[in-house]
Amino acid sequence: MAPKKLDTPPSEVPVSRFENELTGSCLCGSISVSIQDKELFVGKKRGHLCHCANCRKVAGSHVASNLLIEEEKVKIEDKNGIFKCYLDGETLSGNKLERWFCGQCGNPIKSVSPLYPGKVILKMGIFPRIPEPEAEAYSVNRQVWEGRNKDVKMYATKNFGDVYTGDL
Ligand SMILES: [Zn+2]
Ligand SMILES: [Zn+2]
Repeated sequence: MAPKKLDTPPSEVPVSRFENELTGSCLCGSISVSIQDKELFVGKKRGHLCHCANCRKVAGSHVASNLLIEEEKVKIEDKNGIFKCYLDGETLSGNKLERWFCGQCGNPIKSVSPLYPGKVILKMGIFPRIPEPEAEAYSVNRQVWEGRNKDVKMYATKNFGDVYTGDL
């Protein structure tokens, strides 16, 4: 059997490829997401990393990579009609959050919060390249072995709140 082809390292994926569109898909390929934004990789940094408990659970990881973006810039294709939503009522803000995922492979895709009308929070792990994040939230929950992310602003809890001053 031929070895399975692994994905391409982000360093080998030129950002020029995403001048018009950044596209990714879930693990099983049923859900495709494309972001149409010419400034994803130029100018201001975009997106944030989050260490809050809910983001960690959804990501299945010590940190989640999120991008808050205007809904009209995002196209989601659900070719098998299996896109599912879990209504998360146990949020830190107390607002109910829609957590959308692939109903076949379980891959988290996006969240929708009443706090951000007209916007969605995309889960960035499905994309071949992720824009450099602007900030890191809930840094108090970082694992002790994590290193610093270069030039990423760190906040103790919510983004743009108290600056994180813990050990790194
Ligand atoms: Zn899937
Ligand atoms: Zn979070």
